[in-house]
Amino acid sequence: MNLTLKVWRQDGPNDAGHFETYQASDVKDEMSFLEMLDVVNENLIEAGHEPITFDSDCREGICGTCGLMINGQAHGPQKGTATCQLHMRKFRDGETVTIEPFRAAAFPVIRDLMVDRSAFDAIIESGGFISADTGAAQDANEMLIPKPAVDTAMDAAACIGCGACVAACPNGAGQLFTSAKLAHLNLLPQGQAERWKRTEDMVETMEAFFGSCTNYGECQEACPKEIPIDFIALMNRDFLKSKLKNRKLLGQQV
Ligand code: SF4
Repeated sequence: MNLTLKVWRQDGPNDAGHFETYQASDVKDEMSFLEMLDVVNENLIEAGHEPITFDSDCREGICGTCGLMINGQAHGPQKGTATCQLHMRKFRDGETVTIEPFRAAAFPVIRDLMVDRSAFDAIIESGGFISADTGAAQDANEMLIPKPAVDTAMDAAACIGCGACVAACPNGAGQLFTSAKLAHLNLLPQGQAERWKRTEDMVETMEAFFGSCTNYGECQEACPKEIPIDFIALMNRDFLKSKLKNRKLLGQQV
């Protein structure tokens, strides 16, 4: 198939961006969206032009580095699919495809389609870990955990940190990402020791970078791992509790 691409080009964070039009010829159905861009880039390089900058790493829907607005949708038209696993059979011959970076105040454009998602790193650094020694694999397996808790924690752990939830949100909120990262630790016994400090620190770090959640629900629609907004409710509950429990830890009885 042959496509017309309208691609956002921007030299740097402080430069004005604009759309450039390219032709993508002889695109195969079985190509991934990123492989299609690879071919466009090879042609640009051969013609002596700057290739289009975009993020990618594993190309298996795991690492979370890829992510583009494709025809106005984060990760494109296929639900529950990261850009790297989106195949060109989803597009029609002769179609015009608009490709932009994720748009959010907390994700400044670095160049072209690549954005800076280090605000997510700041949230993880503020508490998205377990610092207690949890032992070796057999120790973990000796700890009995109710299956519903394990299943829900695993669902939350599916978050790949891509940022589509932020890009899709009219408020540019980071609630779905933060709540998923909190839930997969807060639901397990190993995560209890730091549960309340973790919750307060991660939510407050999130609020320093991102907008408010007003329950649009666009985040779960855009999420390639179909993380549900139920986790946001869990985060809000834990955040409220953390405000009480952390005061108690400081000797301030409520
Ligand atoms: S919650 Fe979904 S959309 Fe948001 S960062 Fe995680 S995987 Fe990406």
